[in-house]
Amino acid sequence: MFCLECGSTDKKMIGDICIDCFLKDYQMIQIPHRIEVQICSHCNSKLEEGKWLDENIPEEEVIYRALEKNITINDLVENEIINLKIEQLKGTIAICYVEILGEVHGQKIDENHDVEVKILKSVCPTCSKIQAGYYEAVIQFRAHNREIKNEEYELADKAIERILIRQSKVDKLAYCPQIATLKEGRDYYIGSLKTARKVGESLKDEFGGIIKESPRLISEDKSTGKGLYRIWISIRIPEFEIDDFIKYENRILQVKSINKNRIIGTDIKTAKNHTIPMKHLEDIKLLKKANEIETTTIISKSPKNLQILDPSDYSAVDLELKDGFQDYNIGDEIKLIKIDNYIYLVN
Ligand SMILES: [Zn+2]
Ligand SMILES: [Zn+2]
Repeated sequence: MFCLECGSTDKKMIGDICIDCFLKDYQMIQIPHRIEVQICSHCNSKLEEGKWLDENIPEEEVIYRALEKNITINDLVENEIINLKIEQLKGTIAICYVEILGEVHGQKIDENHDVEVKILKSVCPTCSKIQAGYYEAVIQFRAHNREIKNEEYELADKAIERILIRQSKVDKLAYCPQIATLKEGRDYYIGSLKTARKVGESLKDEFGGIIKESPRLISEDKSTGKGLYRIWISIRIPEFEIDDFIKYENRILQVKSINKNRIIGTDIKTAKNHTIPMKHLEDIKLLKKANEIETTTIISKSPKNLQILDPSDYSAVDLELKDGFQDYNIGDEIKLIKIDNYIYLVN
C-alpha cells in the first residue's frame, strides 16, 4: 500500500492516503470567523431565535457562550480539550482565540482559530417598557373613613418591597416605576398585573381590608379590536385598629387581632371572643379609638359590684363586678371606656 497523494509507503493509511496527507487539510472543528450576538444593553439578555433569554449574564460570559455555541466538532475527534480566550475587547468587538487539543486516528493535534465576536447592543422589549415607565396596574392603598398613618405607610412600603424582590426572580416587570402620595392614600404603579395582584394580597395579609379590582380601557388596537386595559386595585384597610372599640350585630367588641380573613374582638359585656369574617367589614362600626380609654380609681368593692370615680365629674359610679375583674381591689387603678354614656371596664 502506498499513499495516492505522496507515494509514501511507511505511514499509517486512512483509506487511499497516508495519515499526514489526510491531516493536511483536516480541521477538528468548524467555527465561523465572525460571530454576531445581539444583547440588551440594560439587562444583557440575548436575542436567540426571536427570543430574549438569559438576562444578567456578564458580557465576557456572553462571548464565551457565543463561541461555544458556534463550534462544531468533527466526528473523528477524540479526547478533545477546547480552550477559549478573549484576547482583546475593543468596544463591541472581541478578538478571540480558540484552541483545540485532540486526537484523530491516534494522532495528537493542536489546532487554533481566530474568531471575532461582535456584540450588537439594543434594548429588549421588557427593558424598553421599563424605561418608558410602563405599568399594567395601580395599587390604591386607602383606609376606610380615615387617613393612613405614617407607620402604616412604612409597613406597606416594606411589604411591597419584599414582594417586588421575590417576584423579580420570576417576573421582569415586577417593579414600581412610580409612587404617588395623596391625601387619601398612596398609589403604587406596578409593572405587571400578576405582581400587582401579589402586592394587593400582601397588603391584605398585613392590614386586613377589602380588595377591589377595576379595569379601565386605556386604548384600543384598531386592527385587532383588542382593548388595552390597565387595572386599578384598591385595597381599603379597616378604619379601626387593634384595641379600638367596634360595634357588630349589636355587640360591642374591643379589637384584639386583624388578619386577611377575619377580625377577632372581645365582647366588653361578656369578655368572650367573637370572630367577624373580613367580608363583613362594611357592617362594622367604629365606636371609640383605643386612645379614648380613661383611667380611674376603685373606691369600693363588694362581691357583686365595683365602685369607681367617673373621671369626668368625680362622681361615684357602681358597676357590676364581671368575670376577669375579681382581682382588682380598693385603691387600684382601672381602665374604662365610655360608650353611649355607659361606662365599661377594660382589662
Ligand atoms: Zn501521503
Ligand atoms: Zn433588557
